[in-house]
Amino acid sequence: ETMISLKKIEKTYKMGQNTVHALDHVSLSIEEGDFVSIVGPSGSGKSTLMNTMGCLDHPDSGEYVLGGSHVDSLKDWQLADIRNQKIGFIFQNFNLLGKLTALENVELPLIYRGTKAKERREQAMASLAQVGIEERAEHLPNQLSGGQQQRVAIARALVGQPSILLADEPTGALDSRTSEEIMDLLIALNKEGRTIILITHDLHVARKAKRTVSISDGKLYEGEHVL
Ligand code: ADP
Ligand code: ADP
Repeated sequence: ETMISLKKIEKTYKMGQNTVHALDHVSLSIEEGDFVSIVGPSGSGKSTLMNTMGCLDHPDSGEYVLGGSHVDSLKDWQLADIRNQKIGFIFQNFNLLGKLTALENVELPLIYRGTKAKERREQAMASLAQVGIEERAEHLPNQLSGGQQQRVAIARALVGQPSILLADEPTGALDSRTSEEIMDLLIALNKEGRTIILITHDLHVARKAKRTVSISDGKLYEGEHVL
């Protein structure tokens, strides 16, 4: 089943006299259970593509179908709901709230959904256990290593049972050994059936996915595009 279908997505930015084609007729189809990396250098359009797929931003034109819903035609408030239901985000810098414990950070998406406190706690603990860090539930982010913080962030991304995980440079702030561990965790989550999209400028990281697509000057290519 097709999880994501992008057809001829365009996004341009006007910079004075110049028009930047951040996304230039991008078409991409991702099946349920796939693990796709999107690789490209700085300025190639990765963030713009991530923002579009993550329902954070509207394309100028083109069609975007996510899990059967046409999201290109939705209003901003509808996009926010879709985002919360269907997408788990993982970021380079973890984006954990510093005053909340690991467990409380993982509970956040469930608070937004209105899940009751007891269930929230149980689901968040299960999610922490799934990424192998339940014994750190009561720690604050600054009491955890980078790799542990990223595990907490992955638990938060998983807790609402999203259709896809969208990871933007998830190993960008980690040393190479910890990066390997986080990539192994993503590979294991994919083997359990989760659809994962990984955005990176690092070809070594990109090659861990089942499928690689490349972006260069806003254009998308199947495989590793030779620059
Ligand atoms: P990447 O994430 O691969 O570094 P981006 O998607 O951030 O690439 O940017 C793609 C192109 O669009 C770049 O040329 C960038 O300068 C331009 N761009 C991105 N966002 C904006 C913006 N808000 N305003 C103007 N130009 C932008
Ligand atoms: P990344 O580190 O993921 O490549 P960037 O540093 O390219 O991200 O961009 C971060 C954010 O800044 C993007 O979401 C984009 O919208 C915005 N941005 C990128 N380039 C420009 C630009 N030339 N002018 C304004 N905003 C930009």
